[in-house]
Amino acid sequence: MRLILLGAPGSGKGSVADLVTRAYGLPRVSTGDLLRHAVRERTPLGIRAEEAMRAGRLVPDDLVIALVGERLAAADARRGYVLDGFPRTIAQAESLARLDPGRPEIVADIVAGEDVIVRRLESRRVCPRCDAVYNVVSRPPRRAGFCDRDGEALVQRDDDRPEVVLNRLRVYHRETEPLLGYYGARGALLRIDGAGTVEASFAELRPAVEAALASGAKGAAA
Ligand code: AMP
Repeated sequence: MRLILLGAPGSGKGSVADLVTRAYGLPRVSTGDLLRHAVRERTPLGIRAEEAMRAGRLVPDDLVIALVGERLAAADARRGYVLDGFPRTIAQAESLARLDPGRPEIVADIVAGEDVIVRRLESRRVCPRCDAVYNVVSRPPRRAGFCDRDGEALVQRDDDRPEVVLNRLRVYHRETEPLLGYYGARGALLRIDGAGTVEASFAELRPAVEAALASGAKGAAA
């Protein structure tokens, strides 16, 4: 089973994906996290991706598709996975279907208004070591400024600055929103409310994930 989380930046994809990972043990595959690590480690991919990321533009499809292909080949993705931030273009969606065909999938669009999103991203802080996500207003760490999991100093993402956020939203509407039509035409597209708490979004998603996991297990037992 794979769960594809669509939704604008700041709609809560990463936080919902974390809850799914904790509840069902499916790995979270976040292209944003994979790319940020590549940038930090100065890999050839990171060097090529850096400028687009800093400006809030999309990294070229071929780079992202290769990255995801490699990640999905890992053993922990065999039973299933949660995609956070991929696909972001129709070309990426088509390549995912080719890369891992026949896998049952749930596609969920997490919906939140722009005012909520802009506020959320301004107060978001992340752990550069383990990728944990906090919000100084709604989900603060136990000790201000430091990660609960590993004690690392939290940082604000470069692209969470207000001027870049607006560009990321424009890019989302232009490049990623067409995926709603793409997946809508192929079957069930769930619409999840992302304006409330992460737990509320997760609760809306849960029945579909549990049904898909149960039917996968039945298929495997047959
Ligand atoms: P995210 O952490 O998902 O908000 O992604 C941060 C940035 O990484 C995006 O603004 C893009 O520059 C880049 N990125 C992440 N995922 C993708 C993707 N699927 N396709 C292209 N660029 C991506």
